[in-house]
Amino acid sequence: MTDSVDEIRKEVRDWLAEHWDAETGKGRSAGSVRDWLDHVIAAGWAAPSWPAAYWGRGLGKEETSAVINEFRKVGAPGAGQDRGNIPANSIMQFGSEALKRRMIPEFLRGAQVCLLYSEPGAGSDLAAVQTRADRKGDVYVVTGQKVWTSGAHKADYGLLLARTDWDAPKHDGLSFFIIPIRQAGIEIRPINQITGDSHFNEVFLDNAEVAADNRVGEEGQGWKVMQTALAVERLIMGEGAGERRQGSMKDNVVSLIDIARETRKIGDPVLRQEIAQAMAYRQLNALNIIRSKQEMAQGSSSPIMSLGKLAMSRILHGDAAVMTKLLGAASMLDADANPRAADVNYRTANAFMTSIGGGTDQIQRNIISERVLGLPRETEADRTIPFRESRAVKG
Ligand SMILES: Cc1cc2nc3c(=O)[nH]c(=O)nc-3n(C[C@H](O)[C@H](O)[C@H](O)COP(=O)(O)OP(=O)(O)OC[C@H]3O[C@@H](n4cnc5c(N)ncnc54)[C@H](O)[C@@H]3O)c2cc1C
Repeated sequence: MTDSVDEIRKEVRDWLAEHWDAETGKGRSAGSVRDWLDHVIAAGWAAPSWPAAYWGRGLGKEETSAVINEFRKVGAPGAGQDRGNIPANSIMQFGSEALKRRMIPEFLRGAQVCLLYSEPGAGSDLAAVQTRADRKGDVYVVTGQKVWTSGAHKADYGLLLARTDWDAPKHDGLSFFIIPIRQAGIEIRPINQITGDSHFNEVFLDNAEVAADNRVGEEGQGWKVMQTALAVERLIMGEGAGERRQGSMKDNVVSLIDIARETRKIGDPVLRQEIAQAMAYRQLNALNIIRSKQEMAQGSSSPIMSLGKLAMSRILHGDAAVMTKLLGAASMLDADANPRAADVNYRTANAFMTSIGGGTDQIQRNIISERVLGLPRETEADRTIPFRESRAVKG
């Protein structure tokens, strides 16, 4: 451990001891969450690796990890957004100077976004999106349909992938925007999920407007911006954001052992082996996440993150399967009278969230095979032709 890491760790600890009350889980000045985040931003902890001129402190990888860990230990929010805030990172890497100044502080302060990427005809093949954004003076006019948009009903802004050029090949005719979501031209309809939750939506855009100044990157550069946005999302999912309702990773493993004790199967050698395997996968994934974070910190959109995301989906399916075996026939029960079974059934259905959202398991395997293992690229007959001539448009 270097001196500078120890120094930063001490500085963060002292700062948190002065400003954060772990008992109440609030800032000592007792303001709103937004006030707390303002405080974190002003101290340079929100994005420690960014330069001081951009809300940071110019810290290295290890120092940044130390900052994040200290905040985590006391449960204080807001640190390390240079690794996990999708809009802030996308704008920081590709946005104009004016957009950075205007919007990054809003996102560091907790403005909510939804991801307006997928469409009924464009999920895995995301570059086939057909929502159009036509420039009219200082604005773009947007028309089309998005689907599976998580959190649109609570969002302030949408990160929008839309087509601005129909004569360019499909990847080159896209642009990326930050669109205000609450406006007359946008209708949001909730979708009901198998788990009983309703986290995502259909979003209909009918002559919605977004200022040209809210474009991230150049016109036609949208696909490149998307790669950074998707890499940050994979990192979040690989770390287990899909488990929010299911507690921390450690809790999850402990609960496997707890269930084995409760069901008196802790002595079963086969199940013991499966529990040990689940724990080993988690440990392996944690190491992999460290590796991908290091690549990200060097500014690349690491394909290694696909391994983390794929591993997390395998872990969630695997845990649910072991829990189901532990419960045996009791897992067929459900509802409030059988909380254990209800929880396991929820986990079983919910595991698909990680293996589909943010790019399916099959797509992660394609990325790993092409970009990590160097295998030949998948054939794409429409990659170089003008998009308006592709089968996606002609049907
Ligand atoms: C919980 C959740 C949250 C989501 N949140 C959002 C969101 O906020 N914003 C957003 O824009 N989208 C969101 N999505 C959508 C998600 O990104 C898409 O569902 C996903 O990319 C798959 O696209 P699709 O549903 O169109 O399936 P398709 O692309 O039609 O795929 C169908 C099947 O074919 C397989 N397949 C397709 N192409 C290939 C290929 N080239 N090689 C091998 N197999 C292939 C897929 O793996 C899959 O099994 C979310 C999805 C989920 C489940």
